Amino acid sequence: MKGCENITIAIIDADLIGRQKHRFPNLVCEKISAYYKEKGAEVQLKLDYDDLSEFDEVFISKVFTDTPVPKWITDAVNMDSGEVDLPDNIHVGGTGFFFDHAPNLPEEIEHHMPDYHLYDKWIADKVDAAKKEAQDTNKPFNEKSFMVQFKGYTDYSIGFTTRGCFRKCPFCVNKKYDKVFCHSSLAEFYDPSRKKICLLDDNILGSPKWKEIIQMLIDTGKPFMYKQGMDERLLTDEKCELLFSAKYDGDFTFAFDNIADYDLIERKLQMIRRYTNSFNIRFYVLVGFESTDVQDIINMWKRIELLMRYNCLPYIMRFQNKNETPWMDSEFRCLYTAVARWCNQPSFFKKKSFREFCEADQKLYKTVCSSMRALVDFEKQYPNIAKEYFDIKFTDYNLGIKIN
Ligand code: SF4
Repeated sequence: MKGCENITIAIIDADLIGRQKHRFPNLVCEKISAYYKEKGAEVQLKLDYDDLSEFDEVFISKVFTDTPVPKWITDAVNMDSGEVDLPDNIHVGGTGFFFDHAPNLPEEIEHHMPDYHLYDKWIADKVDAAKKEAQDTNKPFNEKSFMVQFKGYTDYSIGFTTRGCFRKCPFCVNKKYDKVFCHSSLAEFYDPSRKKICLLDDNILGSPKWKEIIQMLIDTGKPFMYKQGMDERLLTDEKCELLFSAKYDGDFTFAFDNIADYDLIERKLQMIRRYTNSFNIRFYVLVGFESTDVQDIINMWKRIELLMRYNCLPYIMRFQNKNETPWMDSEFRCLYTAVARWCNQPSFFKKKSFREFCEADQKLYKTVCSSMRALVDFEKQYPNIAKEYFDIKFTDYNLGIKIN
């Protein structure tokens, strides 16, 4: 396939530029790159927004709404209407710009094998810079450990086996479709030279084809993971049997967004524990969505306690959307942060109660630290809630799983 010889293309992964710790490739950028390289164009990953008029085409993609981009771009994009007023050679896309109205890629690009080497030069430059810094400061440099941060770029074949979700959770960006449908065959994005497979499906367990797809992944012999989490409400014995016997990569991730699902989630936790004693079961716990008052705090703690009881790990997700970050305006802002810091670092969560975590944090400061202040303030105001939850410990619910 040719037709773009002598054409210059700049690809900008806005999240890579705008988020310091961001370390995951933008699949759209990789697909656009592969498509145009195959057509003979000269493609480069651009790491700034300078001199864009020098390129025949510029593609800017953004996943997160809060990733900063230059003001002239923000001003030119109307997130709600989808209207864009940019020079003809500049194209923007992704949920970071258009939230749930993000337009689809053209089919021939969407279904193109990604360019897994788009980020190679950027990674090589990072390695060179780190080596040089180590040399200049006489510090040892371990390339293998340094490279771990880039594993999303180097180790995985990445794609969507299915797309869509029927649930339409009010806080979710995936509202475009009413069902889960097959999207790509594995062959479309599977590179056998890569060690692992990362799936970005919205709700694989809601697909009528879940079994064939998971079996296909197992048959590759490679570890795989569903990065966006899975819908535990749809777990069945058959699904558990296949999933928990597979060579899974990292944590099995589910979501426990709504306290109304408490009883259902408990039944599913019991089911999960009939099939695995894996320690790597993690649940996203959405907070600050329905409210940011004491009821939301209680609902958060109820979910943490339930997950702890089944030796699962909560991951606190503080709700934010394109316009608002309600938890930041809450009287419990510091408590949300402290609980998130405790839960989202399993090494703390597995070994310390919330109180012990705050006490350990306090030892690092001369004045009262924000975690301890959040604990003390809340306990003063709501002693009964604090009594119920602040001292509960993961190790008190040892299901016979070895803690490491
Ligand atoms: S189940 Fe998950 S993917 Fe589906 S709408 Fe809810 S949050 Fe989004």
